[in-house]
Amino acid sequence: MPLPFPPPGHRVMVAASSDTEFHPVPTILPTIPFLPSWHRLVGVIVSTLLLSCAMGSVCADIVRADIVRADTVRIDTIPITFPDSVQQGSMVIGRVPPGSQVATAGHDLRVTGYGTVVFGVGRDASGTETVDITTPDGRSRQMSVAVTPRDWPIERIDGVPPKTVSPLPEIAQRIQHEQAAVSAERARNDDRVGFAQTFIWPVEGRISGRFGNQRVYNGTPGSAHSGMDIAAAKGTPVKAPASGVITFADDLYLTGGTILLDHGYGISSNFLHLSRIDVKVGDSVEQGQVIGAVGATGRATGPHLHWGMNWFDTRIDPLLVLERTP
Ligand SMILES: [Zn+2]
Repeated sequence: MPLPFPPPGHRVMVAASSDTEFHPVPTILPTIPFLPSWHRLVGVIVSTLLLSCAMGSVCADIVRADIVRADTVRIDTIPITFPDSVQQGSMVIGRVPPGSQVATAGHDLRVTGYGTVVFGVGRDASGTETVDITTPDGRSRQMSVAVTPRDWPIERIDGVPPKTVSPLPEIAQRIQHEQAAVSAERARNDDRVGFAQTFIWPVEGRISGRFGNQRVYNGTPGSAHSGMDIAAAKGTPVKAPASGVITFADDLYLTGGTILLDHGYGISSNFLHLSRIDVKVGDSVEQGQVIGAVGATGRATGPHLHWGMNWFDTRIDPLLVLERTP
């Protein structure tokens, strides 16, 4: 239900979760001659909602307006909204009443002041993802999101440096340590909301490797491709696709120049094979800010940007995040 225009001199409050009590909506268009009187507006809201409640059991899920004070309307709940189905590898954004408790796939989800939640669906997920929601009034609901399977072609990559495909034991141990350090940063569940922005491409270019493809390096089967490769010349600036905080920046054996950018709520981006790193751990970056440059460091056959995304340790497809419509 759209928020009504606040009449001149009055404020409309949107109820939020306990961490941010109220988000005042700034009063815009202060003088609109055709606006009905304030009392009439309240009447319209209340009667519309009563009618909606009378028409079915959806009452619990729709906006409820309570008059807290004469000059304040408190819009208390928001519909519970999740997509009916998503593709494997998706970032799923849902809405719940602010202040709800939400859990899925073994994680308790953070809920923004506006009731936004996010989770990821892995490449090999199947069936349905179940989301458990307890609204602030103590009622429990369960939502199901069906997972649509995708095709995962086999991709043969030859000419990879042999030492990166079958590393010596001591190198294998180094790789393991390095990957563990990156994985530890992916466990963060920080309170920042870059994940909810409309993501932009970190570099412009042709997609030279798709997320999820089953890779065979020099004839040896490897793991599925964990991100999206974008062809670009060495030195091309890499921009942050959404805002966040740098949680890892180092040169690693397998992934070369490596940056981890945390967008909040468990969602992170990683950028690999960089020829240059322009940021350090702890830096806050804005969407579009240059954080490094394209390279061919680590296990790479030529200059490109590998951009991976995660929800905690679940890998998701950056291309689906770019194509997501709010
Ligand atoms: Zn890649």
